[in-house]
Formats: sequence, structure tokens, C-alpha cells
Amino acid sequence: MPRVLVLCYHAVSEAWPAATSVKPEHFEAQLESLVRAGWRGATLRDALTSPRHELTLAVTFDDAHRSVLELAYPVLARLGIPASVFVPTDYPGSGRPMAWDGYDTWIGGPHEAELLCLSWDELRGLRDEGWEIGAHTCSHPRLTAVSDEQLARELAGSRERCEEEMRERCLSLAYPYGDHDERVVAAARDAGYAFACTVPRRAAEPLPLRWPRVGVYHGEGAGELQLRIARRARSVRGLAPAHLAAGAAARLRRARRG
Ligand SMILES: [Zn+2]
Repeated sequence: MPRVLVLCYHAVSEAWPAATSVKPEHFEAQLESLVRAGWRGATLRDALTSPRHELTLAVTFDDAHRSVLELAYPVLARLGIPASVFVPTDYPGSGRPMAWDGYDTWIGGPHEAELLCLSWDELRGLRDEGWEIGAHTCSHPRLTAVSDEQLARELAGSRERCEEEMRERCLSLAYPYGDHDERVVAAARDAGYAFACTVPRRAAEPLPLRWPRVGVYHGEGAGELQLRIARRARSVRGLAPAHLAAGAAARLRRARRG
């Protein structure tokens, strides 16, 4: 049965010392070492529904930082790895830095430009290169803390915006901060997602709407990452629609048809 490994990155930057920012040379070394070890890339959607390689690697990026296009894309293109980007849909084209809790400390400093989001045009360009554009809510709240109404609005609103802009089905979601509970997972299912990603601190049971990714953070070398992922790759045959919630399965079938 194929093994699937899903990595969670955010930004790639030479200078930005944020926990969510990985240096370009570390990023390149990490991906090169995985390819040398036999891993082959796929989008999250393809990795979970039809993994084509014994060792299938899904590289994901939360927040759609500009550096994903500028510094990560060239490395991934050279290695033949498509990726999935999760977009907080209030931000592309807004000109506003992503200043939510945790990123707000960088506002007004020398690294503020790292908080700019890719534009919809740039995201369409990545989609045209075989990447998957998924949703990351509209405004990036902690979903377990918002009302039922806001939860539904954040989840459905970001999916609809992605579909409008990309003109294709949006099946995948990443929970901001990985923050989720039973209520949030049920709302993601109701909003029509087939897949949703978390970032647990340790190994967790993989479920389509609670898929555990391995987070990669500042200062981590390729060797350290290899050690961590050896314990975290998951065996999947490819999730048949029967494994998904009814609404999500129907969306997935429609997406496959066209
Ligand atoms: Zn995020």
C-alpha cells in the first residue's frame, strides 16, 4: 500500500526569523533528500485519492506567502513536485499584510513584506502549473473560538471564493493554526470539503477531514526532518468516495468528471 507523507510549510525566506519561515537552502536540502529517498510529489487531493507512487509526498503551504512563488516554486518545479497552497481568501489583492494573531508582531518591522499574500493571478499561475489551490478560511480566525454562524461563513465563504477565482472545485482546507474540534470538523464537512489538514504535535490518526501533516519550521535541517518523518508517513490506498462524507464524495466525483 502506498505511503503518503504530507508536509506543512508556510514561508521561505533567507532573512525572516519567524518560526514559520524556512531558509531557502534548508527547503531545498529537505526536498532533495526526500526525492533521493524515493518520495514523489502530488497535490494533497491527488495524494489522498489516487497516490501513484509507493512513496507519495504532498507538500503544502499555509497562508499563500509571496515567497512560495518566489523561492519555493523554482525548487519544486526543478524537482517535479506540485504542491497545495491554502489561501486566507480575504487577503489576495487586498494589499494588506496578513496581520493575525502571531503575525502581528512583525508589522512595522523590516520583515513586514513577508506578510503579503500572493494575488489571485499568481495563484492561477500556480494552478496552471499543476498546483492545488485550497482554502484557509476567509480571515484566519481560531475556528474553535468563533460562533456557529461565523464558522459556517468562514468555511463556505473561502471555498466559494477559491472556486470563483480558480474556476474549479475547491475540495481541500487547512484549519488556521491547525485549530479544530468535533464542531469544526462537522462544519467543514457541511461546507463541502473533502479534505482538511491539521498540524498535530505528534502522530495522529489520519481521517479525510483531520489529516495530520508534519510541520516544518525555522532552523530545521534535512537530517532532522528525515528522522521525524520516518515515524509519521501514513499508508493509504487512496480514499474511495465511500470513505468520505456524502456531500464531499459527491463534490469529489463531480470534480473528477470535470
Ligand atoms: Zn495559517
